[in-house]
Amino acid sequence: MWGFKIAKSQSINYDRNDKEIMRTVLDNEPSLRVCMACGACTATCSAGNLLPTFNIRRLNTLLQRGEYTQLRNELNNCMLCGKCTLVCPRGVNIRNIVLNTREALMKYESDTI
Ligand code: SF4
Ligand code: SF4
Repeated sequence: MWGFKIAKSQSINYDRNDKEIMRTVLDNEPSLRVCMACGACTATCSAGNLLPTFNIRRLNTLLQRGEYTQLRNELNNCMLCGKCTLVCPRGVNIRNIVLNTREALMKYESDTI
């Protein structure tokens, strides 16, 4: 009557996503727990300097949310140069996290196909 109606919920429940890869990566590289999202890794990233859409800090968020499709696409752009690891003030071994996440993703996909 007034032109209003109840909209469908736009909320996303990340708790429904499978977090197996996150657990595997944390077991192998616990330094990920101390990331404070400062962005120093992103600012110095070689791949990010070439590809404006590549953002390594986002990796942590995607990993924690269990958004594996985006995560895989993002990871494939990493050149494994290790600059991010050198500048991280918290000593997060990002290069190792990328390697572990790639491996865990391959295993996860081969197990779920
Ligand atoms: S530089 Fe280290 S602490 Fe900062 S966002 Fe990157 S991983 Fe996290
Ligand atoms: S290892 Fe990957 S994420 Fe880290 S600086 Fe190099 S290209 Fe960027």
